[in-house]
Amino acid sequence: MKARIIPIVRSVRTTLPPGRDLVAPPEGELLDLRQRRVRDLRISVTDRCNFRCVYCMPKEIFDDDYAFLPRSKLLSFEEIMRVARIFVDQGVEKIRLTGGEPLLRKHIENLIEQLAQLPVEITLTTNGSLLRKKARALKDAGLHRVTVSLDGIDDAVFKRMNDVDYAVADVLDGIAAAAEVGLAPIKVNCVVKRGANDDQILPLARHFRGSGHILRFIEYMDVGSSNGWRMDEVVPSAEVVARIHAEFPLQAVDANYLGEVAERWRYADGGGEIGVISSVTQAFCATCTRIRLSTEGQLYTCLFAQSGHDLRAMLRQGAGDEAMRREIAAVWRGRDDRYSEIRTAATILPGSKVEMSYIGG
Ligand code: SAM
Ligand code: SF4
Ligand code: SF4
Repeated sequence: MKARIIPIVRSVRTTLPPGRDLVAPPEGELLDLRQRRVRDLRISVTDRCNFRCVYCMPKEIFDDDYAFLPRSKLLSFEEIMRVARIFVDQGVEKIRLTGGEPLLRKHIENLIEQLAQLPVEITLTTNGSLLRKKARALKDAGLHRVTVSLDGIDDAVFKRMNDVDYAVADVLDGIAAAAEVGLAPIKVNCVVKRGANDDQILPLARHFRGSGHILRFIEYMDVGSSNGWRMDEVVPSAEVVARIHAEFPLQAVDANYLGEVAERWRYADGGGEIGVISSVTQAFCATCTRIRLSTEGQLYTCLFAQSGHDLRAMLRQGAGDEAMRREIAAVWRGRDDRYSEIRTAATILPGSKVEMSYIGG
């Protein structure tokens, strides 16, 4: 049966507020088919995780029988460094380590120490469970900032979301540890799933108001094929902002730079800033400058891609830097992705989309 084509996106963000215009890219800059620069490289360092968040790694699928990648298939730190260096030479300004849970990768601080030699910002997204233990080593290795995921401030709700009985207090302690060593400003990400944790929007806002940490609400996305995503479980960012605004008046803040995914708001009374990431209801593909390197060295030009470009094979077959550079440039130049702009009933049918825990969020 032919799928009905139902446009889901409500609006497409293509412009920036006044005064934040697109700066012309330097001559010779790598541009894709939609004139977008490559600016952010996200590197997944493991496909494993100690949480089983219901929207990411549901227990029923990511169980004891799940085939995680064997060690031999993971890119080594040396291989990651080679790819990262080539990307930085091609214009990348920010590197984010992710996963799976990146702090589960053994000796991650050694990789950070090497990456920190590059003239770019190095950040990491984590569930916070190992932050208390690792924050100092991460900071000393040269990590600049962390983003910590936290889907509720009520223990029962959070435990249902992470599905491994992990307590809120331990994540808060991880955030405190990161703040103590100066991995700031810390962003705290909450994925909102209607009926599961949308009752946490206000309690989270109350908790982080005035803390100096930037709380951001992310629309639940149809990444991967295992989370059983449904549109009616998405809480549009406009609704999140309206709910908070009703208790704490908010004012819009200009984007920091072109392609910033979060829409920024600040509390009118000076209680700090929050952000919303509207990947579903307000697509930002037009300014998407991100590329992803999977744990096993596949290069993905979109979070929703169905296949990647195998860099590990090239690396292990002894390709030189120039050949790697040409390959990477060709992948970016051929990039035409804009999944969130064209998301339809057809594209969200269960299929072979790659999992978030594999590609890296
Ligand atoms: N384990 C780390 C963590 O949770 O922060 C890093 C990897 S996780 C895949 C990166 C980010 O993706 C997290 O903030 C997570 O909440 C978000 N994420 C995962 N699945 C998602 C989905 N279906 N929709 C929206 N965000 C999602
Ligand atoms: Fe693990 Fe992060 Fe996915 Fe949660 S969102 S299951 S912490 S990888
Ligand atoms: Fe970028 Fe793909 Fe997300 Fe669009 S859907 S913003 S192209 S990663």
